[in-house]
Amino acid sequence: MKLKDSSLLKTLAYVNGAWTGAASGASFDVTNPATGEVLASVPDMGAAETRAAIEAANAAWPAWRAKTAKERCNLLRAWYNLIMANQEDLAVLLTAEQGKPLAEARGEIAYGAAFIEWFAEEAKRVYGDTIPGHGPDKRIIVLKEPIGVVAAITPWNFPNAMITRKCAPALAVGCPVVIKPAEDTPLSALALAELAERAGIPKGVINIVTAAHGAGIGGELTANPLVRKLSFTGSTEVGKLLMAQCAKTVKKVSLELGGNAPFIVFDDADLDAAVAGAMASKYRNAGQTCVCANRLLVQDGVYDEFAKRLAKAVAGLKVGPGLTSDATQGPLINQEAIEKVERLLADALSKGASIACGGKRHDLGRTFFEPTIVTNVTKDMAMAREEIFGPVAPLFRFHTEAEAVAMANDTEFGLAAYFYAGNVARVMRVAEKLEYGIVGINEGIISTEVAPFGGVKESGIGREGSKYGVEDFLEIKYLCLGGI
Ligand code: ADP
Repeated sequence: MKLKDSSLLKTLAYVNGAWTGAASGASFDVTNPATGEVLASVPDMGAAETRAAIEAANAAWPAWRAKTAKERCNLLRAWYNLIMANQEDLAVLLTAEQGKPLAEARGEIAYGAAFIEWFAEEAKRVYGDTIPGHGPDKRIIVLKEPIGVVAAITPWNFPNAMITRKCAPALAVGCPVVIKPAEDTPLSALALAELAERAGIPKGVINIVTAAHGAGIGGELTANPLVRKLSFTGSTEVGKLLMAQCAKTVKKVSLELGGNAPFIVFDDADLDAAVAGAMASKYRNAGQTCVCANRLLVQDGVYDEFAKRLAKAVAGLKVGPGLTSDATQGPLINQEAIEKVERLLADALSKGASIACGGKRHDLGRTFFEPTIVTNVTKDMAMAREEIFGPVAPLFRFHTEAEAVAMANDTEFGLAAYFYAGNVARVMRVAEKLEYGIVGINEGIISTEVAPFGGVKESGIGREGSKYGVEDFLEIKYLCLGGI
């Protein structure tokens, strides 16, 4: 890994404006999943360091919230500019620790930065209300105030954008943050802190603590009464645990958890468009996003043709290390990820599914996996219920619109859904019936800072991005003025 500005590779955590190690002196290695190379060692922190970070954030809060929205906006804008000026280095760092192809990493840096730009502006429009009073001598005023110290726990699949998507709205409306990045990808987070410092964001406003295992930091972030809000993106299992832990101090929570996205292809769909959408939705980040198509439901009349065209498109994918090749698919994040994909495939094959292409570890070894299509998948197979998080597209067959909608909704998850259809009446009917927070209609890429991202059912609570994204970091205060 070669950076133009080597000072973006930080190997210490960032607490109260200082680069700090673990109290115990312990650290853990961050490796490149494509090569196994150790990129750096970062501090293995726990509850004590987290407490210090929370206290620093709380101490920084009054001055931060007292700034005008425009002052905070200018600081965030400076941060945004520095991120974009260092886009290439940040992308290299991201690919090195996460594995995605460099072009995708560049895209993530721009996508992540866009949240900072968006919320810097949006914070100027945090409007309250005046309400006609309930008596002639009364006036009612509604204020929106920053909630307080925000804890953000983020995953490895978007090491940059999941941080900015949470921190930008929090910071913009006047909240300080304590971030715990995923153990696989802390370097992207620390580089963001370095640029925030250069942008002039005051000490204590952004803090980053790192650990090899999340539980120590997570325990303190969820128990400490100074933390008023937890924003988490990750697995449903850990999300439920953190929500339970937050109950003791009644923290507000935003959760962005697992998905089981259906991708429905109706027989009136533009099949080439559906293939392009499926490629983008399924194979981006090697299938490791929570909005990746997890079940491709294809109507009987177009099933074989769609499978054929999809296989042709998949044959064009190039697997390889993200940094040193023109690969369009990198490695999976770790051994556990590849073992999960193998388990799900073995289960499907044992119950009657067939491999149309791929199906095994790639010749490159390590955690590289062949882009795969599985046909004749049915709902009794584990991959119908579990998030695959790998480059495997399972094709299910359906006959009627009602059957497709029922299959799509037959899951405890409700993050993203996609469907391809031509008939306008069908488009509206199906869009309204899908129990999902996000619906891509004739479109496979739905993430943008200007739209609300989030799920229903067990996929989560809250929305990130858009004008709605600030609400999770605000409290409403109602002033009742009497005796007028
Ligand atoms: P994934 O399966 O995507 O790795 P996880 O939910 O395990 O999802 O991880 C998402 C984030 O949650 C990571 O930053 C991870 O370190 C953190 N995490 C995992 N377990 C805990 C825990 N018990 N308390 C707090 N954070 C945790």
